[in-house]
Amino acid sequence: MAGLSDAASATQSPNATPKVVVDGVDKVYESDRQRVEALADVNFSVSEGEFVCLVGPSGCGKTTLFRTIAGLEAPTGGEIRLDGEAVTGPGTDRGMVFQEYGLFPWRTVRENVAFGLEEQGVDGAERARRVEEMLDLVGLGEFADAYPKELSGGMKQRVGIARALAVAPEILLADEPFGSVDAQTRDMLHEELLRIWSETGKTVLFVTHDVEEAVKLSDRVVVMAADPGRVREVVDVDVDRPRERTDPAFAEYVDRVRGLIGE
Ligand code: ADP
Ligand code: MG
Repeated sequence: MAGLSDAASATQSPNATPKVVVDGVDKVYESDRQRVEALADVNFSVSEGEFVCLVGPSGCGKTTLFRTIAGLEAPTGGEIRLDGEAVTGPGTDRGMVFQEYGLFPWRTVRENVAFGLEEQGVDGAERARRVEEMLDLVGLGEFADAYPKELSGGMKQRVGIARALAVAPEILLADEPFGSVDAQTRDMLHEELLRIWSETGKTVLFVTHDVEEAVKLSDRVVVMAADPGRVREVVDVDVDRPRERTDPAFAEYVDRVRGLIGE
């Protein structure tokens, strides 16, 4: 029996294939007038179930990297691998959340959350069940029939998260999702996202320019620099959860990451 459990744990060892590998990724935007080196030899990997933040100043290539991992943009060099397979386009293994919500104004909350499931051809009863489950997960059950314009920014972002998770992606990709909400709402959304993460065990890649947000949320912070967009350092955040900004260890990480960015 001991042998069996050893074998089982071996398959989940840190040596297992990482969930996401960013392998020597370059991205050059070229036009007649200019050439922008948005990403230059970016390398890092993310384990299954890990919460990783990409942090860095405006223009350092965070969105470009996000879009490349999402499969919306092809790298000009290197590759992204998911479970060892090169990314060639978008897929339902990755759910996306954006700063601008991207909700359909003519659809109710329920219909917005159902969108990806409709695209996948999931039948009505199963679709309804999954939508209710997602609305419960983000605490919006009572607002199922509301339209986006009737919701606060924080609620819209929760709809965005529910919609991204409805199709059961393995990876959640978020690009500055809480950039448009006030500080108090952002704190609430952090708690909610961390709860969802621990309940679902998803791998999360979260882009932000907010260093405190990165230290609050992530297991590891990929610190980026601009011109060309590149990785400056990957920082392991070794602070007990739940994390409090008042914890001296928390403040130390914030200072360290800020120092790396040059803030
Ligand atoms: P961030 O999200 O960190 O602010 P971006 O990935 O949006 O950075 O941009 C990185 C660099 O690439 C910037 O210099 C930006 O102007 C440039 N860039 C981004 N998208 C394009 C594009 N579609 N065409 C040309 N340049 C772009
Ligand atoms: Mg961006």
